[in-house]
Amino acid sequence: MPDILPHVVAAPARIGDPAAMVDTPALVIDLDVFDANIARMKAYAAQMGVALRPHAKTHKSADIALLQMQQGGAVGVCCQKVSEAVALADAGVTDILIANEVVGPAKVAALAALAGRIKLAVCADHPVQVAAYSAAAVQAGVTLDVLVEIDCGSHRCGVQPGQPAVDLALAIDAAPNLHFAGLQSYFGRAQHIYDAAERRAALEVSLKLTADTRDAIRAAGLTCDRVTGAGTGTYGVEGASGVYTEIQPGSYVFMDADYNRVAETGGFAQSLHVVATVLSTSPGQAVCDAGLKASATDCGPPQIAWPKGVTCGTLSDEHGNVVDPDAILQIGDRVGLIPGHIDPTCNLHDWYVGVRGGVVETLWPVTARGRLF
Ligand code: PLP
Ligand code: MN
Repeated sequence: MPDILPHVVAAPARIGDPAAMVDTPALVIDLDVFDANIARMKAYAAQMGVALRPHAKTHKSADIALLQMQQGGAVGVCCQKVSEAVALADAGVTDILIANEVVGPAKVAALAALAGRIKLAVCADHPVQVAAYSAAAVQAGVTLDVLVEIDCGSHRCGVQPGQPAVDLALAIDAAPNLHFAGLQSYFGRAQHIYDAAERRAALEVSLKLTADTRDAIRAAGLTCDRVTGAGTGTYGVEGASGVYTEIQPGSYVFMDADYNRVAETGGFAQSLHVVATVLSTSPGQAVCDAGLKASATDCGPPQIAWPKGVTCGTLSDEHGNVVDPDAILQIGDRVGLIPGHIDPTCNLHDWYVGVRGGVVETLWPVTARGRLF
């Protein structure tokens, strides 16, 4: 068997390969840009005096989470799912906030078991979750840190700010084996308001709701010294507000076409491309090997970073149509796509190929790919 086959089946490249040999479609990281993004957010968090807890749901990679903690100024990471947290913990990540509610006996038992292995916290927005967390923590003989998640404007999860949040914090404080650990206040909708002034105006409302709720919890006699939230579109406002003590940006490591439209994200640059190969050409178009199974389209189609002069057409399962009026592309040429939305794109792949100076330097598995439980 030719010795090329094992690597074709196992991973899109080998360390030391020229970048031009990476098999496609692949998630290719420009490591110089990636390192600069990591250093930039570390510096912003330090300047603002807040803890940095990047959201690992963007990359789902233990290697990147550890790098963020060891070099990127992160105190730990966020996950959105228990199985995702278990995958990262198994690979050595020691401090995780599940920035979400966890419901279901198997998941809650796994949550309590994980709390016995690493520093772990989770969110609640209803006494039903609090009761389940408490019972599982008692059963496992652990103490679980629980944050109250408030709905500060996104109308996703979250108890109403003010008295309902105070009541829930008191319920956590009173529950056996639970520790009330602060407020989760994430305004997801604001992340993607493209205009900076509009975004700031929306955040003024959420900042006041969050600060008032924190003060009301303190007035009820509880310690509330942790307020966490924020993402790549809003971390600068929340981080400098004096209200948040911790920020949770995820996409800043790679960026995507949608975040590249948000003004004032702070100079983060596109470090990840879906690299594809042209399979076929016909007048006015080329067809590449990256379709819906290689790049998410919920925030619009990918943009084409290179070559210049072509644009993305429609995607089908395994094909990406490229509009190529000047016949720039030939069969076998490579195309660099900027995904519309980074998080669901990464979850479509098994590997990150890290390239520096035209050579493959790292191969990182997408550790928690498909960990949706
Ligand atoms: N925190 C929570 C709870 C989130 O749901 C998200 C993303 O949706 C983030 C942080 C990170 O946001 P981003 O990837 O937009 O930086
Ligand atoms: Mn996202």
